[in-house]
Amino acid sequence: MTLKTRFAPSPTGHLHVGNIRTALHNWMFARKTGGQFLLRLDDTDAERSKEEFVEGIRRDLDWLGMGADGEARQSDRFDLYDAGFEKLKTTGRVYPCYETAQELELKRKILLGRGKPPVYDRGALELTDAQIAVYEAEGRRPHWRFKLDHDRPIIWTDLVRGEQKFDASLLSDPVIRREDGSWLYMLPSAIDDVDMGITHVVRGEDHVSNTAAQIQMFEAMDASPPEFAHEALLVGKEGKLSKRLGSLGVASFREQHIEPIAVVALMARLGTSDPVEPVTSVAPLLETFDFARFSRAPARFDDEELKLLNQKIVHQLDYADVAKRLPADMDEAGWHAIRPNVANISEVADWWNIASGDIDRLDLDAEDAAYIRSAHEALTSMDWGDDIWKRLTSTLKDTTGRKGKALFMPLRLALTGKAHGPDMGEMLPLIGQDKALARLVRY
Ligand code: GLU
Repeated sequence: MTLKTRFAPSPTGHLHVGNIRTALHNWMFARKTGGQFLLRLDDTDAERSKEEFVEGIRRDLDWLGMGADGEARQSDRFDLYDAGFEKLKTTGRVYPCYETAQELELKRKILLGRGKPPVYDRGALELTDAQIAVYEAEGRRPHWRFKLDHDRPIIWTDLVRGEQKFDASLLSDPVIRREDGSWLYMLPSAIDDVDMGITHVVRGEDHVSNTAAQIQMFEAMDASPPEFAHEALLVGKEGKLSKRLGSLGVASFREQHIEPIAVVALMARLGTSDPVEPVTSVAPLLETFDFARFSRAPARFDDEELKLLNQKIVHQLDYADVAKRLPADMDEAGWHAIRPNVANISEVADWWNIASGDIDRLDLDAEDAAYIRSAHEALTSMDWGDDIWKRLTSTLKDTTGRKGKALFMPLRLALTGKAHGPDMGEMLPLIGQDKALARLVRY
């Protein structure tokens, strides 16, 4: 049997780090096992679902390298939900309810006031035909609930949380359909999971009690429930679900010049027993991926950690990985010289300009200026070629008696205009003979 996972966002906004993490784990699990990863757009809410968000979700997944093997939209599948609903109606597993929101709220308050859990009392099942007729005559339309089986506990072995046991009588029968016929999340999702042959549902632990009810829905549809993995939620470094975290997504990563693989490397390991490592491909992450290694404690996301990880990854990327995003005339030697000095790819251009463009003359003190003049003279009479930096500095060491910082720093300043930067052994060949001489002769 092919293993199948699905990522099921509602296209009512952009993906944020939490969704991205869930999507990634679904994707990784499918990739690792040679299975399939589906994108299911939960767009039953016609008012809040927007095409721009659908496109954004696809774009974000592509950017992250997590293209789906198939896509479905719930708004195309209403016939299927109607059919499933009708069947459950015949078997008595869904029932109409006529309470208004205010009536339900009052019931809740009374129960809470008595120190009882606010579980729906199934008052609708007691209605007589005459009462229903009165409501209908008043123009009330029913909403619909799924009738849980109270007689046995709901049990499953969660891939992250281990043994799970719920007493169904402590859960309210979930509302699955509104008065106007529109769908709430629970039943369409279970119908889709059956219809699409989803074998593993991977999602946040905020869905654990939905799972309890959905397991009974699967059973009521004569289907065996999929496996479940409920992950601990992602929190900010302060330990809270911050608003900022909820708005942090691919747009912000791009703005900060974060590489997709850095996001993947962090999200694959955060909250697991494996260390976060600067990898340049997903292969080593797939190797260690295992729900059993996920902690039940919330995973803490820290942007600084992401930035630092990104930097370490950039330092290892090959020319071929980045060539398209480098300045057009920059070659492999340029990338290798500059790579260790940048926090992200956007910083490359400045260093490349220093190597290949024009730089300002700095003010050096008289002694250093004289030293640079002797460097110019020495360089004029040397063969440009391998090891030019090494040969130049060892000649100057002999002729001037300078060493250490006094030997290197004025040269760096005169040749690059900066007190720090790429290794001069790699930088000087990039600057080239003509430019180097022209920069030194100014002192
Ligand atoms: N649309 C639901 C959500 O975003 C899907 C949950 C699920 O994976 O079943 O929370």
